[in-house]
Amino acid sequence: MSSDSFSSLPISAAQIANLDSMGYKKMTPVQAQSLPQIIRGKDLIAKAKTGSGKTAAFGVGLLNNINPRFFGVQALVLCPTRELADQVGKELRKLARFTPNIKLVLLCGGKPLGPQIGSLEHGAHIVVGTPGRIQDHLRKGTLKLDGLKTLVLDEADRMLDMGFSEVMTDIISQTPKTRQTLLFSATYPDSIEQMSRSIQRNPVRVTVESEHQSAVIEQLFYEVKKHERNNCLLALFEHYRPETTVVFCHTKKQCDEVAEFLRDHQIEALAIHGDLDQRDRDQVLVRFANNSCSVLVATDVAARGLDIKSLQAVINYELPRDPEVYVHRIGRTGRAGEKGIALSIFSASEEVRVNAISDYQKKPCICDVPESLDRDPGFSLQSPMVTIQLDAGRKNKVRPGDILGALTGDAGLSGSQIGKIDIFDMSSYVAVERTALRQALNYLAQGKVKGRTIRARKLR
Ligand code: ADP
Ligand code: MG
Repeated sequence: MSSDSFSSLPISAAQIANLDSMGYKKMTPVQAQSLPQIIRGKDLIAKAKTGSGKTAAFGVGLLNNINPRFFGVQALVLCPTRELADQVGKELRKLARFTPNIKLVLLCGGKPLGPQIGSLEHGAHIVVGTPGRIQDHLRKGTLKLDGLKTLVLDEADRMLDMGFSEVMTDIISQTPKTRQTLLFSATYPDSIEQMSRSIQRNPVRVTVESEHQSAVIEQLFYEVKKHERNNCLLALFEHYRPETTVVFCHTKKQCDEVAEFLRDHQIEALAIHGDLDQRDRDQVLVRFANNSCSVLVATDVAARGLDIKSLQAVINYELPRDPEVYVHRIGRTGRAGEKGIALSIFSASEEVRVNAISDYQKKPCICDVPESLDRDPGFSLQSPMVTIQLDAGRKNKVRPGDILGALTGDAGLSGSQIGKIDIFDMSSYVAVERTALRQALNYLAQGKVKGRTIRARKLR
């Protein structure tokens, strides 16, 4: 029995079988280092990059500690955004399958309070949510944390960046002092150290080095004059022609402007940041995930937790001050052994940031000038798929099979022309090949899905 096998842990055989059925054959490094400590009841502060398996690290630990017969909130997981809370909730539900009767409630903003209050009244063992909404429930008295055993702060650095510090302190002050506190973060700025000191007891430290296959990520830095940033961005697209890209910006306004600039230059791009309302965010995420948008322009916060499988390129429109953030950003490309490219634009005043990155990575940064890039004035970038929005969803009992059935049946599309199907409460989205769009829309204008006509349009 090797030390990275789940069966080396003092957890139930049912959980080990469940993990096996999820395809988790052995622990990832962050799990192997933290789970024994978490199960012993220790406080823990762990730093590991995105995709390292942090959710199961705290998930298996907190589930092991839950008593299903006690109907009170025993574990609370705070996440910075609704998307991340959704993902954590999904993973925890899978991890909880080894035992019946464990109830998990998701409490995020942007959703009505009523149903959340209803779920809480039915008794919840685990709450996952965003700080603002959790605080709302505490204020209303609809959530009580006096029986809490485990508190998890996931992506703690982002929560601090997003200004949740006071809200978090308020929430934590309403939990028992005897709780176990697990803090997960991708970076360790001073603010995290301070927070840890004020809320944790002798935490065990776990650091899993970002052994980013930096070999498979090609990194290049382009020096520009301030007003040449946009032009350089365009040149990067023309030269490297990446099919999927995230462009990182600092501010929401910059995201909007850069996305607009790209669209003005025949590069289909969408911006994502905290100012979008929930519906718009959902739509942008759907389109990026289903290949009907090739370029996403994002802030660090908005890009967290994006479920991106293989990104060909990451472009830093501006360099972050913190080299760890840089390493984190570029880790979104070159995954699963695929080759990725990280391109960064900087001006003379940002040279200190390039040096910091080079020190941090212990290797020189390769700098170039945009003039060396091959330009192509006729260049345009369009996604292979387009998204059709249908005005019916889960509430109308629409299932993916209904949409697939209608499009491949009466509409006459072939299965290979249809991509990902996403069902939300009131609407659904289906990706179709660009060349099949007319045919699909013509059918939907007259024909039926699940026995009735549903309004449909191309998402733009
Ligand atoms: P993080 O929170 O560190 O960014 P996640 O918890 O979201 O990472 O996990 C990343 C991916 O790895 C998920 O798809 C998860 O299902 C998968 N995963 C986690 N632990 C294991 C494991 N032990 N074996 C195989 N896959 C795992
Ligand atoms: Mg995570």
